[in-house]
Amino acid sequence: MFNYIIVGAGLAGAVMAERIANILDEKVLVIERRNHIGGNCYDEIDKTGIIIHKYGPHIFHTNYRDVFKYLSKFTEWREYQHYVLGFIDGKLAPLPFNLNTLHKLLPESLAKPLEKKLLKKYNYGERIPILKLLEEDDRDLKFLANYIYEKVFLNYTIKQWALKPDEIDGKVTERVPILLSRDNRYFQDHYQAVPQEGYTKMIQKILDHENIKIMLNTSHQEILKIKNNKILFMDREYKGKLIFTGKIDELFNYRYGRLPYRSLNFKFETLDQKWYQPAATINYPNDYDFTRITEFKHIHPTSTKKTTILKEYPQEHIEGKNEPCYPIPTKENQKTYKKYEKLAGKHENLILLGRLAEYHYYNMDEIVKKALTTFKKEIK
Ligand code: FAD
Ligand code: UDP
Repeated sequence: MFNYIIVGAGLAGAVMAERIANILDEKVLVIERRNHIGGNCYDEIDKTGIIIHKYGPHIFHTNYRDVFKYLSKFTEWREYQHYVLGFIDGKLAPLPFNLNTLHKLLPESLAKPLEKKLLKKYNYGERIPILKLLEEDDRDLKFLANYIYEKVFLNYTIKQWALKPDEIDGKVTERVPILLSRDNRYFQDHYQAVPQEGYTKMIQKILDHENIKIMLNTSHQEILKIKNNKILFMDREYKGKLIFTGKIDELFNYRYGRLPYRSLNFKFETLDQKWYQPAATINYPNDYDFTRITEFKHIHPTSTKKTTILKEYPQEHIEGKNEPCYPIPTKENQKTYKKYEKLAGKHENLILLGRLAEYHYYNMDEIVKKALTTFKKEIK
């Protein structure tokens, strides 16, 4: 019936389905556990008319021209630069920590010589991971590194991951480097935009093809099984390609134990005021139990007199209770993942793709890129 089955209608599953339907002209079945498509990129218009991101703020940014071009077939864009402020010692200062942040938070008598030292050692525009800056021998730069570590990274990371920055893969904190410039934007990528009518509409268009059949409210377990090293579809051996974008440990019934995830409790509030805060997102590294507040009107401006904000409270992921938002990149978890990956390798017709199946902290552009190359290499 179907030579291709995809589990998950997130960005990974949608792009793969589109390629199979359009390029191969083959029928493809997409199974989605939730009652909507889009995965974590899902957005909707709330009761005040504002586009909100149900699973946390999603800002598209990329240097991949091919990815931007591909997605542009399915959406118009609203050019959008994301600004984040950090609430630190009662002040609001730009993040990532840059030269403006330095002058905003420290007295000039300290900030000026520190800027000079930084620019003597590094190039203007350089991006320095905090864990690298901490290795500085110079006394003053070491002082600065410790200051940034304590004020920006330590408590935020403990809140977000229940781990210290050096207990997780350095790539996590590297996402928000120290920026040796006066560029206050959160990202410096070439393309920065949000889909004019939101991500859900864009993903709907990606999936809009007569060859694509979508089954919502359906977990893979209801129709797919792995038994005696065989993939079964409706209890019969399945010889077509299975593209799995769900949790890999779940696919193999947690044979090597559970791969842990961080989850978030998303608390939306609609307020009877035009604006709430001066930037789209404010991070609270050292105060409150939430990590950040996002005000969606900054991302998709609307003329409504109200505003909607979102507070993100990190928590442990518990199956069935909350969503698996972030794979936790520690050495131990990577070891467990590798065991599952090896197991998956025994099935020639199984392809793992996406944040959950690859247990990898992908951004949206990276997952589109990965889906496009996986299609070319492993399917076409
Ligand atoms: P998902 O979006 O997780 O999709 C997987 C889908 O599979 C889900 O719909 C799920 O319900 C379904 N599924 C899972 N298991 C099963 C099963 N057993 N049976 C049936 N269906 C199943 N990226 C950016 O580029 N910019 C950002 O600003 C950004 N912000 C983010 C903020 C947060 C809080 C989070 C959590 C992520 C953010 N991302 C951001 C990352 C982005 O969400 C991911 O890159 C993207 O969603 C990955 O797509 P995916 O298809 O791999 O996974
Ligand atoms: N981070 C931090 N303080 C901040 C912002 C980020 O410590 O103010 C660290 C934290 O560990 C976080 C990581 O950098 O998980 C990546 O931040 P990013 O904003 O990219 O997280 P995401 O938007 O993916 O949740």
